[in-house]
Amino acid sequence: MVIADVSLASRYPIYLDHSASTPPSDEVVEAMLPWLHEMHANPHSDHLHGQRAAAAVEHARAAVADLIGADPEDIIFTSGATEANNIALYGLLARSEGTRRLAVSDSEHKSVLEVAHFLSTQGVELTRVPVDARGVIAADALARCLALERAVEVGVMTFAHANNEIGTVQKLPELSDVIHQHGFLCHVDAAQSVGKIPLDVIHDGIDLLSVSSHKVYGPSGIGALYIAPDVVGGMTPLMHGGGQERGLRAGTIPPFLAVGFGVAAALAQRRMSDDARHLQSLALQFQMALKEHGVAFSLLGESSHRLPGHLSLWLPGVDASDLLSLLAPHLSASTGSACTSGELQASHVLRAIGMDSHCASEVVRITFGRASSSDDALDAAAILYRGIQQQLQRQ
Ligand code: PMP
Repeated sequence: MVIADVSLASRYPIYLDHSASTPPSDEVVEAMLPWLHEMHANPHSDHLHGQRAAAAVEHARAAVADLIGADPEDIIFTSGATEANNIALYGLLARSEGTRRLAVSDSEHKSVLEVAHFLSTQGVELTRVPVDARGVIAADALARCLALERAVEVGVMTFAHANNEIGTVQKLPELSDVIHQHGFLCHVDAAQSVGKIPLDVIHDGIDLLSVSSHKVYGPSGIGALYIAPDVVGGMTPLMHGGGQERGLRAGTIPPFLAVGFGVAAALAQRRMSDDARHLQSLALQFQMALKEHGVAFSLLGESSHRLPGHLSLWLPGVDASDLLSLLAPHLSASTGSACTSGELQASHVLRAIGMDSHCASEVVRITFGRASSSDDALDAAAILYRGIQQQLQRQ
């Protein structure tokens, strides 16, 4: 790990890793501050401070619900999308009786794949659903995977609305229709898509939906899970305690985080189309600048259904990890490989779309955000170009 010695006052490194986390908006931070000071209280307390905190939490819940077309009663707060995914899948499938099946696509986030693996050790049957070379789950391939020879008592299909590495957006409600036709429940991990592209749990036929605040310009440490009213009754809690959040997520809700998430959700709803236009324009400017510099690249993922401002670039002949280390003082972006136990491993998502580990080591992910500017996009393209030249000269 290279720790760059760069003053925080400098505009460098340019932050283009918004799929990893989005910095909270000024409005969000401002709304949170009183709840870290004089307004702070336990929202489960009966006194006036507690009641005010509870009202603020409910206001935030309504904003999050509104963003996804849900009823506030059907939203429980969690610590993030990882916890929401765990509560959803464990909650539906952890019971010990009956045949249970979990269908999961190959390109899911680890917070889904690892729960799936755990559940498989507890008697849950797993079905792997492939994605194509653009990361798309094809409806006919899904139907073949879900067409079982024998009925199951509980069947759940889980997939991410938008992939965090390549930005491919899955088609809703086409997939949820197939899932329901086969008697499965539909859980969608919307950590990357919520607030960025339209999503409506009723119209899109979603039974459970996970979201995260720190991907939508809210604070880290809070997220939510939507659970359809006809599903919630049969769920097993992952944590036990004071019975908060409909008995499915025990623990005290932090009002400052809930308030921040609520403001972020309302802002995202108001700005969704402006944000998307801005991000698409930056991504276009960046790609044109790269082409003008003569950088050879291919874009991964589905071009017509991709998150706005999300570019997963395959740069043949370029070692992405070395490149980003070299550029660390000037650009923060991410690679298609993760360091596990000191060894670089190709991402399972890139492998799922058919890349070998060598090609996966040549992938850089650039993701723009609301506060990114045209200067950032053009500068980043020039920085990338110079870095690639430097790397080639060293070889
Ligand atoms: N799912 C997806 C698709 C994600 O991108 C992420 C975050 N990288 C998560 C789940 C986990 O979200 P959180 O950080 O809120 O736990």
